Amino acid sequence: MAKKALQKKEKINEEDLLGEVSFEVDKEAFEGPFTCCNRKTKQLKKKMSYKGMEFDYKIWHCSKCGKDYLDSEQSKRMEKIWTIQKILDDKLITMERKMNFDGKTFFFRFPKEISKTWNKNSCADIKMINAETFLVEIKCC
Ligand SMILES: [Zn+2]
Repeated sequence: MAKKALQKKEKINEEDLLGEVSFEVDKEAFEGPFTCCNRKTKQLKKKMSYKGMEFDYKIWHCSKCGKDYLDSEQSKRMEKIWTIQKILDDKLITMERKMNFDGKTFFFRFPKEISKTWNKNSCADIKMINAETFLVEIKCC
């Protein structure tokens, strides 16, 4: 009987929608375990599914008040999951740019409105999805 109840609880967790999950993000101490209600939080593995895709993530859970905390690593992971969710929902802002060719290399330009905060130390982290599809993240190197 107890096992059956547990299975049912896990099923509910898997059906959580990404948008309905809320977390506390501790900006001071970005590594777990966090302290909440004068005690240390415990790390728990969680699962959620969205449109048939399953995502694993870890949270730091306070057993007294029930708050969940994300550390910096898991925050980054969550951002990636939310990006995937936006891709699945086709909610990304998209732009079409003309490809340039200098005789050797193909390249394209980003609009100034987007690139104005980039500097010489910026670099592109490119993840290849397939030969024509990429995710590009501009970051400080
Ligand atoms: Zn607490």
